[in-house]
Order: sequence, then C-alpha cells, then structure tokens
Amino acid sequence: MRLSELFTKTTKTVPADETSKNAKLLIQAGFVHKEMAGVYAYLPLGLRVVENIKRIIREEMNALGSQEIIMTSLQRKELWEKTGRWDDAAVDVWFKSELKNGTAVGFGWSHEEPITNMMSNYISSYRDLPTSVYQFQTKLRNEVRAKSGIMRGREFVMKDLYAYSRNAEELQDFYDGVTEAYLKVFRRVGIGDSTYLTFASGGAFTQFSHEFQTVTEAGEDTIYIDEDKRIAVNQEVLNDDVLKQLGLQRDRLKEVKAAEVGNIFNFGSAKAEQLGVYFTDEDGSEKPLFLSSYGIGVTRLMGVVVELFADERGLVWPQSIAPAQVIIDRLGESRATIVAADELYAKLVEQGIETLYDDRDVRPGEKFADADLMGIPLRIVVSDKTVEAGKYEVKKRTATDVKMQSLDDILKDLVATE
Ligand code: ATP
Ligand code: MG
Repeated sequence: MRLSELFTKTTKTVPADETSKNAKLLIQAGFVHKEMAGVYAYLPLGLRVVENIKRIIREEMNALGSQEIIMTSLQRKELWEKTGRWDDAAVDVWFKSELKNGTAVGFGWSHEEPITNMMSNYISSYRDLPTSVYQFQTKLRNEVRAKSGIMRGREFVMKDLYAYSRNAEELQDFYDGVTEAYLKVFRRVGIGDSTYLTFASGGAFTQFSHEFQTVTEAGEDTIYIDEDKRIAVNQEVLNDDVLKQLGLQRDRLKEVKAAEVGNIFNFGSAKAEQLGVYFTDEDGSEKPLFLSSYGIGVTRLMGVVVELFADERGLVWPQSIAPAQVIIDRLGESRATIVAADELYAKLVEQGIETLYDDRDVRPGEKFADADLMGIPLRIVVSDKTVEAGKYEVKKRTATDVKMQSLDDILKDLVATE
C-alpha cells in the first residue's frame, strides 16, 4: 500500500468527547473513525489489525475442530423468553425493536439461545456429539457507559464459540482444550505475559466462569493475581472460602486493574433443558445437551494491545497483528532514490511481506512521526545517502538506534521474528 494512495490521513485532532488512550491514538493514526460514543468504524489499517487478530483466533478454533458460521443479528423474542433472558431486568444491554406488524425483535448481544435452537436441527443422536460452532459477529449492546474507546463498544466484534457435549466429562475435556487454545491466542497476539486465567462469577453449572484478564490500568475490572501460579481471582468472587478452595493465599495476591479479553462458561445441561433441546443417547434414552460457550472480544483485544504497548510517539503493534510488517520511508525525490525505493517495495511485496510505502512528497520529520504513530514494527529509510552506501537504514519501532543493512539481512531478520 502506497501512502500517497491511502485515503486516511494522520491527524492531531481527536473528538472532544474522546477520553480513552486507545481510541485517541487509533483516530489520530487513521485506524478508526468515531461515529458516536462507543461506536467505531474500522478503516483500512485498523481493519487489517482486526483481520490479523481474527486469523489467529480462527486458526486456533479450527484446530479444535470447530466450524465457522455467521448467525443473524435480528433475534426472536420467544427463544430468549424460554431462558428468562428477554427481560430487561435480567439482561440490561438489549437493543430491541419491532417489525412493521408489531412483532418484537432483539438485536444480537449474544447468541447462545438462537445458536442452540439452530443446532438442535442437526443434533439428534449421541453420534452427532461432540460438536461446536463459532462465529465472528458484530454484537450490539446498549452499554450505559462507553468511556473506554474500542474496549467497550455499543457495537463490537466478538468471536463466540458454542460447544455441545454428551455429558459433563465430555464438556470438561473440550473446556480444557479451549482454555489452552485461548492462552495460545493471547500469546500469539503478544499479550500472553500480561494475561491471566481468572476465576470469576457467572458459572451457571459450575461455581466459576473463567475469564482471561489482561493487566492494564485502562481495564474496568479489579482482579487479584498470583504471579507465580499465573492465575487470578476476580474481585467479585474473592473471599476466604474461594481462596482456600483454589489453594491461594491472600498475602501473595496482588490487586491490579485488568480488562476482560475473553470469558468461558460451562452451562451444564441447564440451558438445553430450558430450551427443550435433547438428544438420544446410546442406550436409547433422551438426554439434554451439555452446553458451554466461549467468547473473545476481538476489538477489545485490539484496544488492550494499544493500551499495553503504545508510547509517547504513538501506536506499537506486535508483529503478529501489525497492519504491515514494514514501512518504507522514501526521503527525497531524486531519480536514484525513487528507483531504489520502488524496487525495494516491489521486492518486499514479492516476498509476501506486508509493506507500507511512504512515497509522499512531505518532510522527513513528518514521515518519521507518521511511521511511529502508526506503530509499524520496522522502518526502512531509502535516501540519496542510503543509495550511495548500497544499504538501507533500518530502525525497529521500539528501538532508538538505526542500523545499515542489506536487503538479505533485513529479510533474514523479518523471517526470524515471524
Ligand atoms: P464486561 O463484563 O466487560 O461487560 P461481559 O462479561 O458482559 O463483558 P461477555 O458476554 O462475556 O462480556 O462477552 C465476551 C467477550 O466480549 C468479553 O470477554 C469481552 O472481551 C468482550 N466484550 C464484552 N462486552 C464488550 C463491549 N461492550 N465492547 C467490546 N468488547 C466487549
Ligand atoms: Mg464476561
């Protein structure tokens, strides 16, 4: 992508009502557009980050044998009434509307009920189990507060996976598998060191649900982490009994702010019973399905990455999700420099390396500032000086020193850190 052709521009101004660091930086760098509080559009560079995060999650969900689908945003009231979750007193984030004929509809804030109802068309026997489906969906939630930028949207992208099992043991096996897969996802997107498996409330069948909480001051939750055991307890369930049960000592726990990037639930057979969803087991008896659900906040995760790594110069993307691996800053408009930069760009693209090419006729300082603000992991300068030296001037986003390198060396480094 040539920056001269990219329609977005970096800017110093942000909407007056924007208070979060993540959204401010993403708006300044041209990654997102703020439509209204809690509602953001994703522009080319921002969309690349979202897609990179989705690709990593998709690989890990496919590895679990799960199958990708997309459910509908419009949902039926009757289904949610069966589980008591249509009521605004039970679920306080519903957006609801009605059809012209007066039929009530809800906008999908979650999908357990409709997905389970849909899956019941395909699951009749124990032979159909275990099975699971997942989707990337834009959820709509009428959140009261939307002050955390893309970390709390009224519209946001979630990956949600729903698994159907024959019994409690089979469910637990899958649950453990997803737990591992989630930890892998968070490692791959670069937040593994700061992310804790956290015991939280909300288990319908089990006492706890498990959250994946990333330690950051921008988070809205308070958790208590055990840095050695690498687990945490959400404030909402912290008490002496729970600590004892988990084998944790209060004085070894550290209180921190954190953001919930994922949450997994074991519903046991309760939800299938409410929805009337049964299968025929090997002995011919009718049994309710065992249901578990698994969410990751894709766009929240992106916001968390911004909060964790951004510095005074702007965004800093881990290589695995960066919108591009390399930015070429062409300095000067001499014939030789233009040819050299064009050639380098063509070679990197040929190698399959996502590259931004700053071919604009603007001051070097502006190019450097933009490359930093956009957070591209590697900056390569091509100028009269580098052409003369027969090498490129290379700088990592997080480094302060520059190196003179040949293309071969640059390529070797890029592959090694991939
Ligand atoms: P929270 O407690 O932060 O409101 P939740 O427990 O209601 O979240 P879940 O229903 O468990 O959220 O949704 C699964 C995941 O979706 C969460 O772990 C979180 O990462 C993400 N998520 C939830 N609400 C939002 C939101 N308003 N904006 C962005 N991501 C969200
Ligand atoms: Mg949750």
